[in-house]
Amino acid sequence: MASMTTERTGSLGAAMSIDVEDWFHTDNMRGVIACEAWESCELRVERNTMRMLEILQSSNARATFFVLGWVAEKCPRLVRTISAAGHEIASHGYGHQHVYSLQPREFRSDVVRSKRYLEDLTGKAVRGYRAPSFSITDWAIPILQDVGFDYDSSVVQTIAHDRYGRLSGMHAGRPIISLGDGFHEVCVSCIRLGERGIPWGGGGYFRLIPYPLWLQGVRMILRSGMPYIFYIHPWEIDPGQPRVAGLKATNLFRQRVNLRRCEGRFAALVGAFEWMPVCDLIDGPNAGRGAAEVRDDGADDFAEHPSRGDGAGREFSGGWADVDCRSRAQV
Ligand SMILES: [Zn+2]
Repeated sequence: MASMTTERTGSLGAAMSIDVEDWFHTDNMRGVIACEAWESCELRVERNTMRMLEILQSSNARATFFVLGWVAEKCPRLVRTISAAGHEIASHGYGHQHVYSLQPREFRSDVVRSKRYLEDLTGKAVRGYRAPSFSITDWAIPILQDVGFDYDSSVVQTIAHDRYGRLSGMHAGRPIISLGDGFHEVCVSCIRLGERGIPWGGGGYFRLIPYPLWLQGVRMILRSGMPYIFYIHPWEIDPGQPRVAGLKATNLFRQRVNLRRCEGRFAALVGAFEWMPVCDLIDGPNAGRGAAEVRDDGADDFAEHPSRGDGAGREFSGGWADVDCRSRAQV
């Protein structure tokens, strides 16, 4: 099980992100619950997100919450509570449609609606965007830049996934990439395998892979000199979410695998490392509390991991960020 001691994550650190959507917004439910039916679904996102906030607060961890605009309109108090607790509010768009399924003008409308509403609620600039189901595509980036985002976090440099989008210019081993004009792509973590990787940043993989192995993977990423970027959804800690008839077996598996264990795993992971919001990775190691020294049990149990031999981690060398990391003041 996880060490009860928070591990030092060095000057790069680990970023925690939570995609704030409800159980019925997922792609798994897309075929059986239409957008028009969302209004009649049981809203569980507020209680699940509040539970996550408690877990984060118990470890003094800070995170980025990529909030779906639809959820923000239903739960404005929740958004204000997250922001007041010192976490970063970012955008998960408004309607949770795949970016590559939209026309550019539809995408612009979706992100502007979400960004403006979140900024009105919190009084703070919304700097980050995450595409629903990581469905980012090249034409969307200039639009994100134009409407005032500082970063996108919608790329998983994995081998293959039937839903993930793609972005040009990504570089395996460099999870934070400058796309020009101060705009960055912050990739969700993978364990590198050639030019692509095994997803090691959350979602169903976090629920499926044995926790001790997951923990060792996170340590491997951090100790190889790269930041770690994790993501999770509030509905993943909710085994009591409604069961819906008619789901395909694959979608049922993706939605429900290990839901009962997920809150405990999440709490263990939060307690195991020092976490910062994604914006602190963009701003550099001196931003926020990202570089703060924390206690460490000194144990290097990862050294006993069978896959770590001489030179393990060298494949990650070369730095994690391209140029142009600079501080930006919140407005
Ligand atoms: Zn989502």
